[in-house]
Amino acid sequence: MFRTCLTIVSAFAASIVFSSSNSALADEYLNGIKWEEPAIVSPGKKNSDPPSDAIVLFNGKDLNNWKNGENWTVKEGVIYAGKGPITSKEEFGDCQLHIEWSSPSEVKGNGQGRGNSGVFLMGKYEIQVLDSYNNKTYFDGQAGAIYKQTPPMVNINRGPGEWNTYDIIWTAPRFEEDGSLKSPAYITAICNGAVILNHFELLGDTPFNRPPKYIPHSDKGPISLQDHGNPVRFRNIWVRPIAPAKGEQVREPFIRDGDKETPISEWKKSGK
Ligand code: MG
Repeated sequence: MFRTCLTIVSAFAASIVFSSSNSALADEYLNGIKWEEPAIVSPGKKNSDPPSDAIVLFNGKDLNNWKNGENWTVKEGVIYAGKGPITSKEEFGDCQLHIEWSSPSEVKGNGQGRGNSGVFLMGKYEIQVLDSYNNKTYFDGQAGAIYKQTPPMVNINRGPGEWNTYDIIWTAPRFEEDGSLKSPAYITAICNGAVILNHFELLGDTPFNRPPKYIPHSDKGPISLQDHGNPVRFRNIWVRPIAPAKGEQVREPFIRDGDKETPISEWKKSGK
């Protein structure tokens, strides 16, 4: 009997705690920020399809959204790397980029000479594209590397001729008026469903022949795809400019208890 009562009492106490966020029985914390409603975006049928607010850079038809597109080829809905890099006509700052790529099914060459291309954010910062399936090279030059800065955390590449997916979240570097670095670039990347770069802080650009450095540039830049002499294929390329949720601090954070509202500064003084 005693045990049954205890169970009922405990259940009642739990229900009070559980419902406290909506009741006047306990304090509620409010942050004092007036948030704008997040934009409503329609997802695609699959997560690899562009959401409704994406800018589609290649939809399987043509290279009209790219400079130098006339020197690359579109065949059966996919792009084949050609002569010289292609560069998106539109420029981006912070963004989410989806791109799918495939190294040639006929394996030729080795190391950096096998299925080499690259995705350049802002035209300057390369995440490597390479046939890294049973193909050893220096680790900070394999597929998914930020070239000469860091290898990917894992090698999850599919074999030659198969399709790989990069989903990239890019934070552009910021520069002061005098050209000094205000904040570096960061990249997070997911390859074929696994995180390969987690908020990696770039040391600068990614050339072959000198250390990385930041050379001031504008707050937007193009996406470029590298010509490294190998007929790497690309498809389904889309970008979403991104920005933090918008809100304004309209009052000091406070605690609400029924009709009583206590600013956090006072509430802290009360020793809570
Ligand atoms: Mg490359």
